[in-house]
Amino acid sequence: MDIEVVVASTAGFCSGVRQAIQGAQERLQENRKLYCLGDIIHNHDVIESLKGFGLVVTDRIEAIPDGSRFVVRTHGLQKEILQKAAAKELTVFDFTCPRVKKIYHLVTTLTEDGYHILIIGNPNHPEVQAISSLIGTDHTILQRPEEVPSFTIPEPNAIVVQTTFNPDIFLEILKRIVLRTKKTLVCNTLCGETLKRQQEARKLAGETDFIVVVGGKQSSNTKTLFAQIRNIVPAVHIENARELQKDCFRHVKKVGVISGASTPAQEVARVADRLSEF
Ligand code: SF4
Repeated sequence: MDIEVVVASTAGFCSGVRQAIQGAQERLQENRKLYCLGDIIHNHDVIESLKGFGLVVTDRIEAIPDGSRFVVRTHGLQKEILQKAAAKELTVFDFTCPRVKKIYHLVTTLTEDGYHILIIGNPNHPEVQAISSLIGTDHTILQRPEEVPSFTIPEPNAIVVQTTFNPDIFLEILKRIVLRTKKTLVCNTLCGETLKRQQEARKLAGETDFIVVVGGKQSSNTKTLFAQIRNIVPAVHIENARELQKDCFRHVKKVGVISGASTPAQEVARVADRLSEF
């Protein structure tokens, strides 16, 4: 019996990633190398395709020749690295997502106003590292509820959150902080597009008997999506259609396909097509 396949309307690139990829593609049409620190998005196939047009991915700013063209990813970049880019006279194309830049603006003005900044997010994520670099030493990064300190948290304080952080963990951390403080300003900086994607995914999980999550294995928003969905319905996290295994779908009648923010719509369509053949 054929499997019914339902593709989420939110699947495919988010607006920030779409803008960054289009921007990089336009610059690469000029037939000159374009450097990037780390993968421009969490999608192997897209990166390989861009490399074919002259994108060079490196992990050290020092490895980029002076005067080169350089692209800043949607996550943004630490202040110190941007200063090094300026010293090397790189031509910088800044594709930091506007939602991330909004957090930059918030933490800068709130720090000037005397707030201690609490960043909720993964300290190893480039977005959090970029935000942290703008504040100096007077801030705290929290990733897990149990990390909320039992000692007095500096006040007044202001909370911002990594755009793609898990909203359930965010709320749990928030609850523990707010119960211990009197002057806490909460800035909900979770990405609205990501929340919408998660909302649709949960709805689809309630209407299907299996969910395929398509997205990079290192992608924060995809990992959150998968963690939320696997609690509701059997699910698998794949990067591309080639990873689909027919055996997993032997008893499945209706399958939902959702994706992380850096998965192209074409890859989602390939996954849906392959599932239809099972
Ligand atoms: S997931 Fe949201 S915050 Fe991240 S790049 Fe996309 S639109 Fe911007």
